[in-house]
Amino acid sequence: MSNADALVPDRSCGTCTLCCKVMGVRELNKPAGTWCTHCDPRRGCGIYETRPSGCREFFCTWRIEASIPEWFRPLTSKLVLAVEQQGRRLAIHVDPGTPQAWRQEPYYRQLKVWAQEAVATNRQVIVRLGKRMIAVLPDCDVDVGVVGEDETVVTAARQTPSGLAYTAYRAKVADLLGGGT
Ligand code: SF4
Ligand code: SF4
Repeated sequence: MSNADALVPDRSCGTCTLCCKVMGVRELNKPAGTWCTHCDPRRGCGIYETRPSGCREFFCTWRIEASIPEWFRPLTSKLVLAVEQQGRRLAIHVDPGTPQAWRQEPYYRQLKVWAQEAVATNRQVIVRLGKRMIAVLPDCDVDVGVVGEDETVVTAARQTPSGLAYTAYRAKVADLLGGGT
């Protein structure tokens, strides 16, 4: 979440409405991965003046961070980047109509670079297809399946004779309280 004051000057949404499809909107009980019933993909939001605060405040990371490559433009990449979990997670929300988009180049190569940086700073890179999540890790990708409202994704590393090996799994948030990821 951010606001219009912090946007990259030379980037605009244009005709893109992809976040109205891939993102969930709690106020509308709209699930992730399905078009909002108020969205006309050609004309935009049908309730623009009264849209929920979650919609008002949201801009994808491509619009906020100049360091995100131009070629991540959601309209063409079919990927909507968002920083979640208080900055600990970079989420890549994938258009369900092109579920393999994140595996294409140059995107996948960049996700692996971010994954390597993330593990060094206790952060995550997570591909999201609706409620299904896939952890992108330096040495593998782990499909943890559908993550419930009371669950989160834990990533971990263990030392092996050939170096660090990474994994990821779903866990109940309540079970992690007082623990750590
Ligand atoms: S995904 Fe990004 S570029 Fe597309 S409409 Fe949403 S905020 Fe704008
Ligand atoms: S209310 Fe409007 S801005 Fe929010 S998801 Fe629906 S169409 Fe998009």
